[in-house]
Amino acid sequence: MENLWESALREIRGRLSSENFETWIEPIRFVSIEEDQVRLRVPNRFYEEWLSTHYVDVILEAIRLHGDGLLSEQLNYEEPGNSSALPEDLKLQWVVDEGLQREIEHIRNTERIADEQASKASTGSKTAVQQPHADLNPKYNFDNFVVGPSNQLAHAASVACGSSPGQRYNPLFIYGGVGLGKTHLVNALGHTITASNNKVRILYLSAEQFTNEFIWALKNHRISEFREQYRSRCDVLLMDDIQFLAGREQTQEEFFHTFNALYHLDRQIVVTSDVYPQQIQEMEERLISRFQSGMVADIQAPELDTRIAILQQKAEQESIELLPDVALFLAQVVKSNVRELEGTLIRIAVKADLLNRPIDLELAQETMQVSKTSPDKAIGVDDIQRTVCDYFGIRMADLKGRRRHRAVSFPRALAMYVSRSRLGCSFPDLGDRFGGKDHTTVMSAYRKISRLVKEDSKVRQDVEAIERKLGF
Ligand code: ADP
Ligand code: MG
Repeated sequence: MENLWESALREIRGRLSSENFETWIEPIRFVSIEEDQVRLRVPNRFYEEWLSTHYVDVILEAIRLHGDGLLSEQLNYEEPGNSSALPEDLKLQWVVDEGLQREIEHIRNTERIADEQASKASTGSKTAVQQPHADLNPKYNFDNFVVGPSNQLAHAASVACGSSPGQRYNPLFIYGGVGLGKTHLVNALGHTITASNNKVRILYLSAEQFTNEFIWALKNHRISEFREQYRSRCDVLLMDDIQFLAGREQTQEEFFHTFNALYHLDRQIVVTSDVYPQQIQEMEERLISRFQSGMVADIQAPELDTRIAILQQKAEQESIELLPDVALFLAQVVKSNVRELEGTLIRIAVKADLLNRPIDLELAQETMQVSKTSPDKAIGVDDIQRTVCDYFGIRMADLKGRRRHRAVSFPRALAMYVSRSRLGCSFPDLGDRFGGKDHTTVMSAYRKISRLVKEDSKVRQDVEAIERKLGF
Protein backbone atom coordinates (compact mmCIF):
# COMPACT_ATOMS: atom_id res chain seq x y z
CA MET A 1 0.00 0.00 0.00
CA GLU A 2 2.88 2.30 0.71
CA ASN A 3 3.79 1.85 -2.92
CA LEU A 4 0.46 3.03 -4.06
CA TRP A 5 0.75 6.15 -1.94
CA GLU A 6 4.27 6.78 -3.14
CA SER A 7 3.21 6.58 -6.76
CA ALA A 8 0.29 8.85 -6.01
CA LEU A 9 2.66 11.29 -4.33
CA ARG A 10 4.90 11.37 -7.38
CA GLU A 11 1.90 12.12 -9.50
CA ILE A 12 0.73 14.90 -7.21
CA ARG A 13 4.20 16.38 -7.04
CA GLY A 14 4.15 16.76 -10.80
CA ARG A 15 0.93 18.68 -10.66
CA LEU A 16 1.53 21.18 -7.88
CA SER A 17 4.09 23.84 -7.33
CA SER A 18 6.86 22.61 -5.11
CA GLU A 19 5.81 25.05 -2.40
CA ASN A 20 2.28 23.81 -2.30
CA PHE A 21 3.44 20.26 -2.42
CA GLU A 22 5.81 20.76 0.49
CA THR A 23 3.34 22.75 2.53
CA TRP A 24 0.23 20.68 2.08
CA ILE A 25 0.94 17.26 0.68
CA GLU A 26 4.25 16.22 2.16
CA PRO A 27 2.98 16.29 5.75
CA ILE A 28 0.26 13.78 4.93
CA ARG A 29 0.77 10.22 6.10
CA PHE A 30 -0.94 7.33 4.48
CA VAL A 31 -2.99 5.12 6.80
CA SER A 32 -5.06 2.68 4.82
CA ILE A 33 -7.47 1.93 2.04
CA GLU A 34 -10.50 -0.07 2.94
CA GLU A 35 -13.30 -0.50 0.53
CA ASP A 36 -14.10 2.98 -0.67
CA GLN A 37 -12.29 4.79 2.14
CA VAL A 38 -8.79 6.16 1.84
CA ARG A 39 -7.56 7.19 5.27
CA LEU A 40 -4.86 9.82 5.55
CA ARG A 41 -3.21 11.23 8.64
CA VAL A 42 -2.79 15.02 8.90
CA PRO A 43 -1.19 17.26 11.55
CA ASN A 44 -4.22 19.33 12.54
CA ARG A 45 -7.75 20.38 11.79
CA PHE A 46 -6.64 23.24 9.62
CA TYR A 47 -4.93 20.80 7.30
CA GLU A 48 -8.02 18.73 7.21
CA GLU A 49 -10.12 21.67 6.19
CA TRP A 50 -7.66 23.06 3.75
CA LEU A 51 -7.02 19.78 2.05
CA SER A 52 -10.72 19.06 1.91
CA THR A 53 -11.43 22.26 0.07
CA HIS A 54 -8.35 22.42 -2.11
CA TYR A 55 -6.77 19.09 -2.79
CA VAL A 56 -9.23 16.24 -2.54
CA ASP A 57 -9.65 15.90 -6.28
CA VAL A 58 -5.96 15.95 -7.02
CA ILE A 59 -5.26 13.34 -4.36
CA LEU A 60 -8.07 11.03 -5.35
CA GLU A 61 -7.26 11.28 -8.99
CA ALA A 62 -3.63 10.45 -8.35
CA ILE A 63 -4.58 7.45 -6.24
CA ARG A 64 -6.98 6.24 -8.85
CA LEU A 65 -4.48 6.72 -11.62
CA HIS A 66 -1.93 4.52 -9.94
CA GLY A 67 -4.21 2.49 -7.84
CA ASP A 68 -5.87 0.06 -10.14
CA GLY A 69 -2.86 -1.80 -11.43
CA LEU A 70 -0.93 -1.69 -8.20
CA LEU A 71 -3.82 -2.63 -6.03
CA SER A 72 -4.69 -5.74 -7.91
CA GLU A 73 -1.05 -6.78 -7.77
CA GLN A 74 -0.48 -6.03 -4.15
CA LEU A 75 -3.72 -7.13 -2.66
CA ASN A 76 -3.98 -10.15 -4.82
CA TYR A 77 -7.44 -9.07 -5.60
CA GLU A 78 -8.81 -12.22 -6.96
CA GLU A 79 -12.35 -11.47 -7.66
CA PRO A 80 -12.89 -12.75 -11.13
CA GLY A 81 -13.40 -10.08 -13.71
CA ASN A 82 -12.44 -7.36 -11.30
CA SER A 83 -9.26 -5.98 -12.75
CA SER A 84 -10.00 -2.45 -11.71
CA ALA A 85 -9.77 -2.80 -8.00
CA LEU A 86 -10.65 0.68 -6.82
CA PRO A 87 -14.28 1.53 -6.39
CA GLU A 88 -15.61 4.45 -8.38
CA ASP A 89 -16.76 6.45 -5.40
CA LEU A 90 -13.49 6.54 -3.52
CA LYS A 91 -13.64 8.87 -0.51
CA LEU A 92 -11.01 10.48 1.62
CA GLN A 93 -11.13 10.33 5.37
CA TRP A 94 -8.81 12.41 7.51
CA VAL A 95 -7.25 11.29 10.73
CA VAL A 96 -6.05 14.28 12.74
CA ASP A 97 -2.89 13.59 14.69
CA GLU A 98 -1.34 16.46 16.59
CA GLY A 99 1.96 14.64 17.12
CA LEU A 100 2.54 14.48 13.41
CA GLN A 101 3.66 18.08 13.18
CA ARG A 102 6.62 17.45 15.48
CA GLU A 103 7.56 14.36 13.59
CA ILE A 104 7.54 16.31 10.35
CA GLU A 105 9.61 19.15 11.78
CA HIS A 106 12.10 16.62 12.94
CA ILE A 107 12.36 14.98 9.55
CA ARG A 108 12.68 18.32 7.79
CA ASN A 109 15.45 19.40 10.10
CA THR A 110 17.31 16.17 9.61
CA GLU A 111 16.96 16.46 5.86
CA ARG A 112 18.11 20.03 5.88
CA ILE A 113 21.20 19.17 7.85
CA ALA A 114 21.92 16.23 5.58
CA ASP A 115 21.51 18.46 2.53
CA GLU A 116 23.83 21.05 3.93
CA GLN A 117 26.46 18.45 4.66
CA ALA A 118 26.07 16.88 1.26
CA SER A 119 26.43 20.18 -0.52
CA LYS A 120 29.53 20.95 1.49
CA ALA A 121 30.98 17.59 0.61
CA SER A 122 30.05 17.57 -3.05
CA THR A 123 32.38 18.99 -5.63
CA GLY A 124 29.67 21.14 -7.03
CA SER A 125 28.26 18.69 -9.53
CA LYS A 126 24.55 18.40 -9.17
CA THR A 127 22.78 15.11 -9.27
CA ALA A 128 21.12 14.91 -12.61
CA VAL A 129 17.57 13.83 -12.51
CA GLN A 130 15.27 14.16 -15.39
CA GLN A 131 12.33 16.12 -14.18
CA PRO A 132 9.07 16.48 -15.96
CA HIS A 133 8.13 20.02 -16.89
CA ALA A 134 6.03 21.62 -14.30
CA ASP A 135 2.84 22.61 -15.97
CA LEU A 136 1.52 26.08 -15.54
CA ASN A 137 0.30 26.66 -12.06
CA PRO A 138 -3.49 27.08 -12.24
CA LYS A 139 -3.42 29.27 -9.14
CA TYR A 140 -1.63 32.13 -10.83
CA ASN A 141 -3.60 34.28 -13.24
CA PHE A 142 -4.03 37.93 -14.06
CA ASP A 143 -7.34 38.13 -12.23
CA ASN A 144 -5.76 37.44 -8.90
CA PHE A 145 -2.68 39.57 -9.48
CA VAL A 146 -2.96 42.90 -7.72
CA VAL A 147 -1.52 45.72 -9.80
CA GLY A 148 0.15 48.69 -8.17
CA PRO A 149 2.88 51.18 -9.04
CA SER A 150 5.55 48.65 -8.02
CA ASN A 151 4.61 46.04 -10.60
CA GLN A 152 2.64 47.98 -13.19
CA LEU A 153 5.24 47.80 -15.91
CA ALA A 154 5.94 44.10 -15.55
CA HIS A 155 2.22 43.43 -15.43
CA ALA A 156 1.48 45.45 -18.56
CA ALA A 157 4.31 43.81 -20.46
CA SER A 158 3.12 40.35 -19.41
CA VAL A 159 -0.43 41.09 -20.48
CA ALA A 160 0.80 42.33 -23.84
CA CYS A 161 2.96 39.23 -24.29
CA GLY A 162 0.08 37.00 -23.34
CA SER A 163 -2.22 38.50 -25.92
CA SER A 164 0.25 38.69 -28.80
CA PRO A 165 3.14 36.36 -28.11
CA GLY A 166 6.24 36.67 -30.21
CA GLN A 167 5.40 40.13 -31.43
CA ARG A 168 6.03 43.16 -29.35
CA TYR A 169 8.08 42.27 -26.35
CA ASN A 170 10.49 39.60 -27.32
CA PRO A 171 12.29 38.54 -25.27
CA LEU A 172 10.59 39.74 -22.14
CA PHE A 173 12.87 39.88 -19.14
CA ILE A 174 11.11 40.27 -15.79
CA TYR A 175 13.28 40.98 -12.84
CA GLY A 176 12.48 41.57 -9.20
CA GLY A 177 13.37 40.41 -5.70
CA VAL A 178 12.32 37.11 -4.23
CA GLY A 179 8.60 36.64 -3.68
CA LEU A 180 7.48 39.69 -5.60
CA GLY A 181 5.34 37.95 -8.21
CA LYS A 182 7.60 36.95 -11.12
CA THR A 183 6.46 33.35 -11.20
CA HIS A 184 2.88 34.49 -10.81
CA LEU A 185 3.11 36.81 -13.83
CA VAL A 186 4.82 34.26 -16.04
CA ASN A 187 2.18 31.66 -15.29
CA ALA A 188 -0.62 34.14 -15.85
CA LEU A 189 0.91 35.04 -19.19
CA GLY A 190 1.07 31.37 -20.12
CA HIS A 191 -2.57 30.85 -19.19
CA THR A 192 -3.64 33.75 -21.39
CA ILE A 193 -1.86 32.24 -24.36
CA THR A 194 -3.34 28.80 -23.77
CA ALA A 195 -6.79 30.27 -23.31
CA SER A 196 -6.74 31.93 -26.71
CA ASN A 197 -5.14 29.04 -28.51
CA ASN A 198 -4.63 25.72 -26.85
CA LYS A 199 -2.47 24.41 -29.66
CA VAL A 200 0.37 26.71 -28.77
CA ARG A 201 3.15 24.63 -27.32
CA ILE A 202 4.28 26.29 -24.16
CA LEU A 203 7.27 25.17 -22.18
CA TYR A 204 7.30 26.56 -18.70
CA LEU A 205 10.18 25.56 -16.50
CA SER A 206 12.82 26.91 -14.21
CA ALA A 207 16.39 27.36 -15.32
CA GLU A 208 17.25 24.73 -12.75
CA GLN A 209 15.04 22.18 -14.49
CA PHE A 210 16.54 23.14 -17.82
CA THR A 211 20.00 22.57 -16.38
CA ASN A 212 19.08 19.22 -14.90
CA GLU A 213 17.52 18.02 -18.10
CA PHE A 214 20.44 19.17 -20.12
CA ILE A 215 22.90 17.33 -17.90
CA TRP A 216 20.73 14.27 -17.96
CA ALA A 217 20.53 14.40 -21.76
CA LEU A 218 24.29 14.75 -21.99
CA LYS A 219 24.90 11.76 -19.78
CA ASN A 220 22.36 9.63 -21.53
CA HIS A 221 23.28 10.57 -25.09
CA ARG A 222 19.92 12.15 -25.71
CA ILE A 223 21.10 15.57 -26.60
CA SER A 224 19.49 15.70 -30.01
CA GLU A 225 16.09 14.93 -28.52
CA PHE A 226 16.67 17.57 -25.91
CA ARG A 227 17.45 20.13 -28.60
CA GLU A 228 14.55 19.07 -30.71
CA GLN A 229 12.21 19.56 -27.82
CA TYR A 230 13.38 23.05 -26.99
CA ARG A 231 14.18 24.36 -30.41
CA SER A 232 11.62 22.79 -32.72
CA ARG A 233 8.75 21.76 -30.57
CA CYS A 234 8.24 24.90 -28.58
CA ASP A 235 6.26 28.01 -29.46
CA VAL A 236 6.63 29.82 -26.20
CA LEU A 237 9.48 29.35 -23.77
CA LEU A 238 8.89 30.60 -20.25
CA MET A 239 12.01 30.23 -18.19
CA ASP A 240 11.83 31.07 -14.54
CA ASP A 241 14.79 32.09 -12.39
CA ILE A 242 17.40 32.41 -15.08
CA GLN A 243 19.92 33.56 -12.49
CA PHE A 244 20.36 29.88 -11.75
CA LEU A 245 22.49 29.63 -14.89
CA ALA A 246 25.12 31.86 -13.30
CA GLY A 247 28.47 30.17 -13.61
CA ARG A 248 27.09 27.18 -15.51
CA GLU A 249 28.98 27.70 -18.71
CA GLN A 250 27.90 24.71 -20.67
CA THR A 251 24.23 25.10 -19.88
CA GLN A 252 24.44 28.78 -20.76
CA GLU A 253 25.95 27.86 -24.08
CA GLU A 254 23.10 25.46 -24.71
CA PHE A 255 20.54 28.00 -23.63
CA PHE A 256 22.11 30.59 -25.89
CA HIS A 257 21.58 28.38 -28.92
CA THR A 258 18.06 27.52 -27.82
CA PHE A 259 17.39 31.19 -27.42
CA ASN A 260 18.68 32.06 -30.87
CA ALA A 261 16.80 29.27 -32.57
CA LEU A 262 13.51 30.31 -30.99
CA TYR A 263 14.13 33.98 -31.44
CA HIS A 264 14.72 33.64 -35.16
CA LEU A 265 11.48 31.75 -35.49
CA ASP A 266 9.69 34.63 -33.73
CA ARG A 267 8.82 32.43 -30.83
CA GLN A 268 8.07 34.22 -27.58
CA ILE A 269 10.68 33.93 -24.88
CA VAL A 270 10.12 35.13 -21.35
CA VAL A 271 12.71 34.88 -18.64
CA THR A 272 12.62 35.95 -15.04
CA SER A 273 15.47 36.70 -12.73
CA ASP A 274 15.89 37.99 -9.24
CA VAL A 275 18.45 40.50 -10.43
CA TYR A 276 18.90 42.85 -13.32
CA PRO A 277 20.53 41.22 -16.40
CA GLN A 278 23.96 42.80 -15.91
CA GLN A 279 23.98 41.85 -12.27
CA ILE A 280 23.77 38.13 -12.88
CA GLN A 281 27.22 37.06 -11.86
CA GLU A 282 29.17 34.91 -14.26
CA MET A 283 26.63 35.23 -17.02
CA GLU A 284 28.02 35.41 -20.51
CA GLU A 285 27.99 38.85 -22.10
CA ARG A 286 26.26 37.64 -25.22
CA LEU A 287 23.38 36.19 -23.21
CA ILE A 288 23.03 39.36 -21.22
CA SER A 289 22.89 41.42 -24.37
CA ARG A 290 20.24 39.07 -25.77
CA PHE A 291 18.13 39.67 -22.70
CA GLN A 292 18.57 43.39 -22.98
CA SER A 293 17.61 43.43 -26.60
CA GLY A 294 13.96 43.02 -25.73
CA MET A 295 11.81 44.40 -22.98
CA VAL A 296 13.21 44.58 -19.48
CA ALA A 297 10.55 45.11 -16.83
CA ASP A 298 11.14 45.25 -13.13
CA ILE A 299 9.02 44.53 -10.08
CA GLN A 300 9.70 46.47 -6.93
CA ALA A 301 8.56 45.72 -3.42
CA PRO A 302 4.91 46.75 -3.21
CA GLU A 303 3.78 49.95 -1.51
CA LEU A 304 1.56 49.88 1.53
CA ASP A 305 -1.71 50.20 -0.40
CA THR A 306 -0.75 47.40 -2.75
CA ARG A 307 0.23 45.23 0.19
CA ILE A 308 -3.16 45.80 1.76
CA ALA A 309 -4.93 45.00 -1.50
CA ILE A 310 -2.89 41.81 -1.90
CA LEU A 311 -3.79 40.71 1.62
CA GLN A 312 -7.46 41.35 1.00
CA GLN A 313 -7.36 39.55 -2.30
CA LYS A 314 -5.61 36.58 -0.74
CA ALA A 315 -8.01 36.50 2.19
CA GLU A 316 -10.95 36.46 -0.13
CA GLN A 317 -9.43 33.71 -2.22
CA GLU A 318 -8.86 31.56 0.84
CA SER A 319 -12.12 32.51 2.54
CA ILE A 320 -10.35 34.10 5.47
CA GLU A 321 -12.20 36.92 7.16
CA LEU A 322 -9.79 39.81 7.31
CA LEU A 323 -10.68 42.99 9.14
CA PRO A 324 -9.33 46.27 7.75
CA ASP A 325 -7.31 47.09 10.86
CA VAL A 326 -5.66 43.66 10.79
CA ALA A 327 -4.85 44.05 7.10
CA LEU A 328 -3.33 47.45 7.74
CA PHE A 329 -1.29 46.16 10.65
CA LEU A 330 0.09 43.19 8.70
CA ALA A 331 0.84 45.31 5.66
CA GLN A 332 2.77 47.72 7.87
CA VAL A 333 4.83 45.00 9.47
CA VAL A 334 5.65 42.82 6.47
CA LYS A 335 7.09 45.03 3.82
CA SER A 336 9.41 43.54 1.34
CA ASN A 337 8.01 40.27 0.15
CA VAL A 338 4.57 39.19 -0.99
CA ARG A 339 5.20 35.55 -0.26
CA GLU A 340 5.98 36.43 3.32
CA LEU A 341 2.91 38.62 3.47
CA GLU A 342 0.73 35.74 2.36
CA GLY A 343 2.53 33.34 4.65
CA THR A 344 1.87 35.63 7.58
CA LEU A 345 -1.82 35.80 6.79
CA ILE A 346 -2.06 32.02 6.55
CA ARG A 347 -0.10 31.60 9.75
CA ILE A 348 -2.52 33.83 11.61
CA ALA A 349 -5.50 32.05 10.08
CA VAL A 350 -4.08 28.69 11.19
CA LYS A 351 -3.48 30.03 14.65
CA ALA A 352 -6.95 31.50 14.92
CA ASP A 353 -8.38 28.21 13.83
CA LEU A 354 -6.34 26.15 16.25
CA LEU A 355 -7.03 28.43 19.19
CA ASN A 356 -10.57 28.98 18.14
CA ARG A 357 -10.16 32.72 18.24
CA PRO A 358 -11.22 35.46 15.84
CA ILE A 359 -8.62 36.96 13.53
CA ASP A 360 -8.33 40.32 15.22
CA LEU A 361 -5.66 42.89 15.86
CA GLU A 362 -4.72 41.33 19.16
CA LEU A 363 -4.04 37.94 17.62
CA ALA A 364 -2.14 39.53 14.75
CA GLN A 365 0.04 41.54 17.10
CA GLU A 366 0.69 38.52 19.26
CA THR A 367 1.67 36.42 16.28
CA MET A 368 4.01 39.02 14.88
CA GLN A 369 5.72 39.61 18.22
CA VAL A 370 7.11 36.12 18.06
CA SER A 371 9.34 36.97 15.17
CA LYS A 372 10.62 40.19 16.68
CA THR A 373 14.06 40.05 18.24
CA SER A 374 13.13 41.48 21.60
CA PRO A 375 9.63 42.83 21.87
CA ASP A 376 9.93 44.07 25.41
CA LYS A 377 13.28 45.67 25.36
CA ALA A 378 13.84 48.91 23.52
CA ILE A 379 16.12 48.50 20.55
CA GLY A 380 19.46 50.23 20.80
CA VAL A 381 22.33 51.16 18.53
CA ASP A 382 24.15 47.96 19.45
CA ASP A 383 21.17 45.87 18.32
CA ILE A 384 21.23 47.65 15.00
CA GLN A 385 24.97 47.15 14.68
CA ARG A 386 24.73 43.46 15.45
CA THR A 387 21.87 42.93 13.01
CA VAL A 388 23.70 44.76 10.24
CA CYS A 389 26.83 42.67 10.86
CA ASP A 390 24.79 39.48 10.65
CA TYR A 391 22.98 40.63 7.57
CA PHE A 392 26.13 41.46 5.62
CA GLY A 393 28.30 38.82 7.22
CA ILE A 394 30.94 41.25 8.48
CA ARG A 395 32.67 41.62 11.83
CA MET A 396 31.75 44.20 14.45
CA ALA A 397 35.36 45.39 14.47
CA ASP A 398 35.05 46.23 10.79
CA LEU A 399 31.71 47.90 11.22
CA LYS A 400 33.23 50.23 13.79
CA GLY A 401 36.59 50.39 12.09
CA ARG A 402 38.05 52.74 9.54
CA ARG A 403 38.41 50.60 6.45
CA ARG A 404 36.83 52.23 3.46
CA HIS A 405 36.26 49.22 1.28
CA ARG A 406 32.65 49.15 0.13
CA ALA A 407 32.10 45.72 1.67
CA VAL A 408 32.35 47.38 5.09
CA SER A 409 31.71 51.05 4.43
CA PHE A 410 28.27 50.43 2.99
CA PRO A 411 27.00 48.34 5.94
CA ARG A 412 28.53 50.92 8.28
CA ALA A 413 26.70 53.77 6.59
CA LEU A 414 23.52 51.77 6.56
CA ALA A 415 23.75 51.04 10.27
CA MET A 416 24.28 54.75 10.93
CA TYR A 417 21.29 55.58 8.79
CA VAL A 418 18.99 53.15 10.58
CA SER A 419 20.20 54.34 13.99
CA ARG A 420 19.56 57.92 13.09
CA SER A 421 16.24 57.48 11.32
CA ARG A 422 14.79 54.96 13.75
CA LEU A 423 16.26 55.94 17.09
CA GLY A 424 16.85 59.62 16.37
CA CYS A 425 20.44 59.48 17.61
CA SER A 426 22.51 62.64 17.19
CA PHE A 427 25.39 62.67 14.70
CA PRO A 428 28.13 63.22 17.32
CA ASP A 429 26.66 60.49 19.51
CA LEU A 430 26.66 58.09 16.58
CA GLY A 431 30.23 59.07 15.79
CA ASP A 432 31.17 57.84 19.26
CA ARG A 433 29.21 54.64 18.95
CA PHE A 434 30.91 53.84 15.67
CA GLY A 435 34.46 53.82 16.92
CA GLY A 436 35.00 57.53 17.45
CA LYS A 437 34.26 59.07 14.09
CA ASP A 438 33.76 62.68 13.31
CA HIS A 439 30.13 63.81 13.21
CA THR A 440 30.53 65.04 9.63
CA THR A 441 31.44 61.51 8.56
CA VAL A 442 28.23 60.21 10.09
CA MET A 443 26.24 63.00 8.55
CA SER A 444 27.46 62.33 5.04
CA ALA A 445 26.87 58.57 5.47
CA TYR A 446 23.34 59.32 6.61
CA ARG A 447 22.69 61.60 3.65
CA LYS A 448 24.11 59.13 1.20
CA ILE A 449 21.91 56.28 2.35
CA SER A 450 18.85 58.56 2.54
CA ARG A 451 19.37 59.32 -1.11
CA LEU A 452 20.05 55.70 -2.10
CA VAL A 453 16.94 54.47 -0.32
CA LYS A 454 14.93 56.64 -2.68
CA GLU A 455 16.86 55.82 -5.81
CA ASP A 456 18.02 52.26 -5.51
CA SER A 457 15.56 49.51 -4.83
CA LYS A 458 18.29 47.12 -3.73
CA VAL A 459 19.35 49.49 -0.98
CA ARG A 460 15.75 50.03 0.03
CA GLN A 461 15.28 46.31 0.29
CA ASP A 462 18.38 45.99 2.45
CA VAL A 463 17.13 48.68 4.79
CA GLU A 464 13.68 47.15 5.00
CA ALA A 465 15.03 43.68 5.61
CA ILE A 466 17.23 44.93 8.43
CA GLU A 467 14.45 46.97 9.97
CA ARG A 468 12.15 43.99 9.82
CA LYS A 469 14.72 41.81 11.57
CA LEU A 470 14.85 44.40 14.28
CA GLY A 471 11.09 44.48 14.49
CA PHE A 472 10.63 48.10 13.48
P1 ADP B 1 8.73 35.26 -7.25
O1 ADP B 1 8.60 34.29 -8.38
O2 ADP B 1 9.00 36.66 -7.72
O3 ADP B 1 9.68 34.84 -6.20
P2 ADP B 1 5.98 34.55 -6.79
O4 ADP B 1 5.41 34.84 -8.12
O5 ADP B 1 6.20 33.13 -6.44
O6 ADP B 1 7.31 35.38 -6.55
O7 ADP B 1 5.06 35.26 -5.70
C1 ADP B 1 5.04 34.87 -4.34
C2 ADP B 1 3.62 34.82 -3.87
O8 ADP B 1 3.11 36.12 -3.82
C3 ADP B 1 2.72 34.02 -4.78
O9 ADP B 1 1.81 33.29 -4.01
C4 ADP B 1 2.01 35.08 -5.59
O10 ADP B 1 0.72 34.67 -5.96
C5 ADP B 1 1.94 36.22 -4.62
N1 ADP B 1 1.97 37.53 -5.27
C6 ADP B 1 3.05 38.24 -5.63
N2 ADP B 1 2.71 39.42 -6.17
C7 ADP B 1 1.37 39.46 -6.16
C8 ADP B 1 0.40 40.43 -6.58
N3 ADP B 1 0.76 41.59 -7.12
N4 ADP B 1 -0.90 40.11 -6.39
C9 ADP B 1 -1.27 38.96 -5.84
N5 ADP B 1 -0.43 38.01 -5.42
C10 ADP B 1 0.89 38.26 -5.57
MG1 MG C 1 9.58 32.50 -8.62
